[in-house]
Amino acid sequence: QPVTTDMATLTKEVKKFARDKKLEIETLKIREEYRKEFLGNVSHELKTPLFTIQGYLLTLLDGAMEDKNIRKKYLERAEKGVERLIYIVKDLDMITKLEVGEINLDVTKFDIVEVVQNVFDLFEMKAANKNITLTFDNKYAKPIWVMADQEKIQQVVTNLVVNSIKYGKKGGTTEVGIEDLTKNKVIVRITDNGEGIEKQNISRLFERFYRVDKSGARSEGGSGLGLAIVKHIIEGHDEKIYVESQIGVGSEFSFTLEKAK
Ligand code: ADP
Repeated sequence: QPVTTDMATLTKEVKKFARDKKLEIETLKIREEYRKEFLGNVSHELKTPLFTIQGYLLTLLDGAMEDKNIRKKYLERAEKGVERLIYIVKDLDMITKLEVGEINLDVTKFDIVEVVQNVFDLFEMKAANKNITLTFDNKYAKPIWVMADQEKIQQVVTNLVVNSIKYGKKGGTTEVGIEDLTKNKVIVRITDNGEGIEKQNISRLFERFYRVDKSGARSEGGSGLGLAIVKHIIEGHDEKIYVESQIGVGSEFSFTLEKAK
């Protein structure tokens, strides 16, 4: 009698062990796929600026160096390529840290109006180059105090404003608005009247390296990580991010923040 019970238990345990192992192997396989895909994407992103830089340097070495004006122009373009590499590496560093949960939030009380104004000051020139007007619709008296990690939220606003300029139309507008959502939450909206995003692409926007128009987006620079970083930061705060968009009409990205007491 005890022997049969033991055998039954043993069989059950062996089966459970096999199931667990299988699961473990599957998880490892998925991770390995993920890692391969990540590395593939990274080298792909780095290739474009690297080849650009190499191209300008080779042309300079080939004789273009003799002409003072061309020399300056090509060196400036090569430098732009280096700048782009630095942005990509910074974004990669950020997304890696966010994904492994290495980033601690430094939550303090700060004025979100001031953060939006900082971002506007930094990107006014970039917007002006495309004849885009940055406007701030603040229905409430400033300041608006919130509780969050100020630096990270500035990064979120930056990424969203930069996108609204990149994918905005020439002569268009980017409008930021802050409103009360509930007693404890505000919602920050970044609205543009640019190219918009098709419905079927909206759910994938926040994936890392995802781009709607591969070629078009690439000529505008960027790492394809901007929105993935935004999502991580907002969800790390236990807040929500939304997107509404219509092709040819424009896009609105919005996120919530905790009001400071
Ligand atoms: P990147 O801009 O570097 O390509 P992001 O993660 O910031 O990467 O954005 C992913 C993609 O989402 C972009 O390539 C673009 O296709 C789309 N996108 C983001 N913001 C907007 C916007 N405001 N209007 C239209 N498309 C957008």
